[in-house]
Amino acid sequence: MPTNAELLERRNAAVPRGVGHATPIYAARAENAEVWDVEGKRYIDFAGGIAVLNTGHRHPRVMAAVQAQLERFTHTAFQVMAYEPYIAHAERLNKLAPFKGPAKTIFFTTGAEAVENAIKIARVFTGRPGVISFSGAFHGRTLLTMAMTGKVLPYKKGFGPFPSDVYHVPFPIEHQGVSVADSLKAINFLFKADIDPARVAAIILEPVQGEGGFFVAPKELLVELRKLCDAHGILLVSDEVQAGFARTGKMFGIEHSGVEPDLIAIAKSMAGGFPLSGVVGRANIMDASETGGLGGTYGGNPVACAAALAVLDVIKEEKLLDRANAMGDRIKTKLNQFAKRNDLMPIAAIRGPGAMIGFEIVKHRGSFEPDADATKRLTTAALQNGLIVLNCGVYNNVIRILVPLTASDAIVDEGMGMLENAMRVAH
Ligand code: PMP
Repeated sequence: MPTNAELLERRNAAVPRGVGHATPIYAARAENAEVWDVEGKRYIDFAGGIAVLNTGHRHPRVMAAVQAQLERFTHTAFQVMAYEPYIAHAERLNKLAPFKGPAKTIFFTTGAEAVENAIKIARVFTGRPGVISFSGAFHGRTLLTMAMTGKVLPYKKGFGPFPSDVYHVPFPIEHQGVSVADSLKAINFLFKADIDPARVAAIILEPVQGEGGFFVAPKELLVELRKLCDAHGILLVSDEVQAGFARTGKMFGIEHSGVEPDLIAIAKSMAGGFPLSGVVGRANIMDASETGGLGGTYGGNPVACAAALAVLDVIKEEKLLDRANAMGDRIKTKLNQFAKRNDLMPIAAIRGPGAMIGFEIVKHRGSFEPDADATKRLTTAALQNGLIVLNCGVYNNVIRILVPLTASDAIVDEGMGMLENAMRVAH
């Protein structure tokens, strides 16, 4: 097998530099929360393929469902010759939808495609163009979702012009001096200065911001947005691409607030490592498009749908909602201990529901001054210790933990030990 260095060289020659790389290691095989690189070194995976592996690498139930589907057929295009796994998965999600009343579900392939289609559906239903999203939000890399993303570098630089009628307001983060009232004030300002609320189709937000830094959308914000949406006939869209499928201790992150969205975008952990995304929404809204207006060649691929059905079984049978909470408490307890130690780098703002946990690397204990350099040193040291962990955040100083919910306590503890060691070495 080629070495990591050889593959890096080949990659640099063959693949454009626009695709980032969080690590210089190359995968050979993986099992649950462990990965081995091409040189045989073992790693604990706290990245989960960027929030895709809530049920771990190669869960046996998922593998068996995929294997069985591979024996039947792998592609027909749902629009040409439909198949049961798509319908069965839509039925199950419709029952799980976090709102009262009938739901319908459509499938796509990537998270960006799901978000983009949620906006298409909102526009065709309302007959309005406007979209409001938040600072720090990440909604994808297609032109519309890039326009909706609330972080310029590296996502938007040089890629404009962007689709029009997309507006940003500040996401509330108390310790950065932005309150829920400030966010609401900004929306009202927008309605006065830039767009008539009667021209707004959707307000979209992540219940817990992912790439933006693992910031939780406060319940008061969601409650007020719901009221605002109802007052003006605007749809509320929850982007659950990163937070969905048990990560936060609920099936969907917005359930923590009790607020009902109109549409939700889903992807990532839905299919345990297979490319599948979708939009779940109120049935009357979902039916607004002309036939043929929605879909795609690969959307709702049968192998991915088979995997996704098995993922739902695993979440239920292995009680992964409870597991996310227990695992999150275990991790947060450790992080709170780390935060008190002078031999480790200073950290702050440990947060997150369930097992969607983030914390900040700061310049001084007791401050919130971001330290992006120390964060980079930490992820590098962690990798040397055998731990794959990602950073995020508008200031690149948030460490996010996305360990599979199927990982044992022993693996979680081992990974946290590696993190602790890296926080000492990189201090
Ligand atoms: N929305 C959110 C909240 C995400 O975290 C992501 C991916 N990080 C996306 C959308 C885009 O998903 P994809 O990369 O599959 O297009």
